[in-house]
Amino acid sequence: MAPIKLYNSLGRRLEAFEPLDPGHVRLYTCGPTVYDRVHIGNLRTFVFEDVLRRALRYFGYRVTQAMNLTDVEDKIIAAALQAGVGIGRFTAPHVASFFEDLSTLRIEPVEHYPRATSHIDEMIAMVEQLLEAGYAYRADDSVFFRIAADADYGKLSGIDLEQVRRGARVRSDEYGKEDARDFVLWKGAKEGEPEWASPWGPGRPGWHIECSAMSQKYLGRTFDIHCGGVDNLFPHHENEIAQSESANGSPLARYWLHAEHLTVDGEKMSKSLGNCYTLGDLQARGLSARSIRYLLISVHYRQQLDFRFARAAEAERALKRIDDMRFRLVHEPEQAVDATPVEAAVTEFEAEFGAALADDLNMSAALGAVFRFVHDVNGVIDGGLPVGARHRVEGALQRADQVLAVLDSGAWAEDAGPESGDAAGALSDADVGRLVEARSEARAARDFGAADRIRDELAAAGVVVEDTPAGSRWKRS
Ligand SMILES: [Zn+2]
Repeated sequence: MAPIKLYNSLGRRLEAFEPLDPGHVRLYTCGPTVYDRVHIGNLRTFVFEDVLRRALRYFGYRVTQAMNLTDVEDKIIAAALQAGVGIGRFTAPHVASFFEDLSTLRIEPVEHYPRATSHIDEMIAMVEQLLEAGYAYRADDSVFFRIAADADYGKLSGIDLEQVRRGARVRSDEYGKEDARDFVLWKGAKEGEPEWASPWGPGRPGWHIECSAMSQKYLGRTFDIHCGGVDNLFPHHENEIAQSESANGSPLARYWLHAEHLTVDGEKMSKSLGNCYTLGDLQARGLSARSIRYLLISVHYRQQLDFRFARAAEAERALKRIDDMRFRLVHEPEQAVDATPVEAAVTEFEAEFGAALADDLNMSAALGAVFRFVHDVNGVIDGGLPVGARHRVEGALQRADQVLAVLDSGAWAEDAGPESGDAAGALSDADVGRLVEARSEARAARDFGAADRIRDELAAAGVVVEDTPAGSRWKRS
């Protein structure tokens, strides 16, 4: 198994990654607050986490991942009250749109999506542990974490605690706190708000305790990697560490990875600038989901990604270079010529691609390797495609695409629905005839992978192929 290096925010350095259990990675990723449709800044983090998960699998690890859904929280409660519905009714459509967005961007489903409201007992148990050990205290109807009791508080963010104390504004419902820095573990219920019974009276959990309790339930007290957006680093992740490590006396996560912010046209996203785009907003402006995924993965996760519509057009062009090469590859007949150059190109590509991934998920280098490969294969095709080359090149691309998940243009077109289906349907009868013929040749050569890809490509264009004893026939569906 190739060693992979990751930048650990805890300690701020590149480290060789080794999971606790050989061959098995346990990964926790902070999920969305299901309050409205997530924006592309959130999606950047989720796509990064998807690439991490896929890269770990590429290197042969089994991955068990949990991503929480925050379905009880101040904003949710206020909005549900205003809408006159319960929080479950209020959050349901946002949960649905979240999963739709993940699927549109080809983000692999993970093993566990725990919801906060289904894990109140686990949170109460952890708050009790913290109270017993003196890391927490009751004040009025609430329970707070006592930062003064936690000697290594701040080790993740390196935050200056004095500054936190000076900057902390105490909310009117938190006047009972011993110290302005302390944060809430359990909030006493207010009139009209959803509440759960607890040893401290009716109330609801604070946000931070949810991730501590649920990560422990699904991944154990100490797991391998914890991810989130850089805006979660302080205070959320710092507080998760404080809670879990004080309750358990063992480290929470061994590697902490944070995705940088996404800006739009060089500016921070904000409701007032009107640039808080959702996936739907970008699709409505004509961007394909495939190019959006490509754009989101193309910048290293620790660099700010500046979204611009012009860059989406560049992404489309980049993808087209790959598509064009694959089209040539499928349609070019194989010949009895020297296979050394194509073998060399495949070997070099796989080595470069793997090395780039292992280098803290250096996606710009990984994509650089893809385009060098595209260039090399085009050169090979110019000189005649050797026997077996189609299979070798496709195999290498498919393997890389286990991580990238952007190559399969036909399948993306199908997902995009009737609109882009019409665009793909612009294949002329002559084009269709050539493709059907190429498919028959591939079948005759027993290259069923290539034959299936052409059939998929035709299907995406609304063309159905029927194989009859007299040969293949086609019709538009
Ligand atoms: Zn979290």
